[in-house]
Amino acid sequence: MASIRKWGPWALVAALVLVCVLPVPEFWITQLNYIGISSLTVLGLILLTGVGGLTSFGQAAFVGIGAYTSAYLTVNAGLSPWVTLLVGLGLTAACAVVLGWITLRMSGHYLPLATLAWGLSLYYTMGNLDALGKYDGILGVTGLSLFGWELGQGRVYLLLTWSLVLLGTLALIHLLDSRVGRAIRSLKTGSQMAESMGIDTLRFKIGIFLIAALFASVSGWLYAHFQRSVNPSPFGVHVGIEYLFMAVLGGAGHVWGAITGVAITKLMADQLQVLLPRLIGTSGSYEIIVFGVLLVLTLKYAPDGIWAFVDRKLPKPPRKVDWQDADPLPHRAKPATGEIVLQATDIRKEFGGLVAVNDINFSVASGQIVGLIGPNGAGKSTTFNLITGVLSLTRGSVTFRGETISSLPSREIAKRGISRTFQHVKMIADMTVLENVALGAHLRGSKGATAAMLGLDRAEEQRLLREAEHQLRRVGMGSHLHELAGNLAMGQQRLLEIARALCNDPALLLLDEPAAGLRYLEKQALIDVLRQLKAEGMSILLVEHDMDLVMQVTDRIVVMEFGTRLIEGTPEEIQASPAVRAAYLGTEH
Ligand code: ADP
Ligand code: MG
Repeated sequence: MASIRKWGPWALVAALVLVCVLPVPEFWITQLNYIGISSLTVLGLILLTGVGGLTSFGQAAFVGIGAYTSAYLTVNAGLSPWVTLLVGLGLTAACAVVLGWITLRMSGHYLPLATLAWGLSLYYTMGNLDALGKYDGILGVTGLSLFGWELGQGRVYLLLTWSLVLLGTLALIHLLDSRVGRAIRSLKTGSQMAESMGIDTLRFKIGIFLIAALFASVSGWLYAHFQRSVNPSPFGVHVGIEYLFMAVLGGAGHVWGAITGVAITKLMADQLQVLLPRLIGTSGSYEIIVFGVLLVLTLKYAPDGIWAFVDRKLPKPPRKVDWQDADPLPHRAKPATGEIVLQATDIRKEFGGLVAVNDINFSVASGQIVGLIGPNGAGKSTTFNLITGVLSLTRGSVTFRGETISSLPSREIAKRGISRTFQHVKMIADMTVLENVALGAHLRGSKGATAAMLGLDRAEEQRLLREAEHQLRRVGMGSHLHELAGNLAMGQQRLLEIARALCNDPALLLLDEPAAGLRYLEKQALIDVLRQLKAEGMSILLVEHDMDLVMQVTDRIVVMEFGTRLIEGTPEEIQASPAVRAAYLGTEH
């Protein structure tokens, strides 16, 4: 059975053809035009809010830029609407990048607030500029024509509107299933992990903000030339909120939720606008109240929206494996045997008054496995975070292959060849195991959003997925490729993280308690994997509580206690040390 991904677009084409040939009343043709026009904006919101987790109240303002630019330039400068479409997109892009660049680096509620302010200010600008006709707007906007052929306001316009909706939908489906798409899907819940995989999350946030704004801008252009006039009211903040409502109601995480949400909202608004004044006895926009109540109910009882219910019923055929014959990815040059790969010099981390890492020194040579052990709270994970740039050093320095990396952000450190796992597993629960692991190979691909939307990234994508599968098989997870990561047992999640870290083709691997939660056989398999990696020349820094495992695989061990280095030596020396027995083993047993 085929997936919605395959037949969804065809179903849409079939419905479109049916509407065009059947005697559908003009009223409904007009309605369907409006639904299509709004769907484009909401599609953008699905990407931005539903997938990316960034809330914008200001999408209507971007619709306004597209609409006003085209209306103004066609009426006052006599330009062709096809030219003004491009001008509108350019203007929208400039606004979105500036706004996004300023606000997206700030966390929390800054973006929603900023988009609210942006929506308001653009609304009042449109309403107060003489050139834009103040609140009366611009009248007498031309219709669209193609090679002298008028597109009118009926079925032909419908074809244009919905062709754009279809293209937008296909573009998003392709985008989300790509290297860039995986990065975008990690923004909502996995930014820190994504940065550790070398992903510049700010860039992708600005990227989806830009794409959503461009979708809105096209929608505004369609609106202006369909309506043949523009005024500020359809571009106000209340409409921006309505777009958000449509996205949430339809199913913010699903591409098909856009059309669903818009259609239901528009149809409901029509009915309510007739029904409510009759019930209440006076006229007014009472449907807004019903929408408000509905939004609360949706968020409470169906937070994934209406499409999620449909989606659950749809068949989910396993993903077609088409990457078996892809070329392997190139490897980075490995350090020479014996070369010092990592050198930590007097590294220190203070959290307020607490000294979590107290002037620690150690090094890892090429092809070595160094164990970092110590009781809970000794500062092992903090040391990892200092090396990988997740935390900044209070003092000291870290060099990797001769280069000081102390002040670099974690994605730059990943780029240089350090990969890690997290003590508290960090993965994207609603992505498959394979997709999660492919996130680790992000830096080994280069295809961007445009290539992905156009489907021009497939060859590279196959190479990335092949690598992801290879690393998963290597850690014994070959039979879980297409499972959702959130459904895995704890031990399997840890193996997923190791495979993901390996996908970056690192020269140094940092493993934070990889054996926690693993069963006996899985542990034995992990030991084999570590030995094999070592044989291939990989350097590994290993934090682990399972002493049996540590003693079997490490070349050297550094023991930490209360942030300080207690002792360093071979496994035999550490086992024989009374100090370690007292400090470390004493607290463990
Ligand atoms: P380990 O991994 O060896 O168990 P950690 O490195 O996680 O230890 O923690 C070392 C100490 O630093 C602990 O006392 C812990 O509570 C503290 N700590 C870790 N991270 C933070 C943080 N972000 N803010 C404040 N204190 C922290
Ligand atoms: Mg820890």
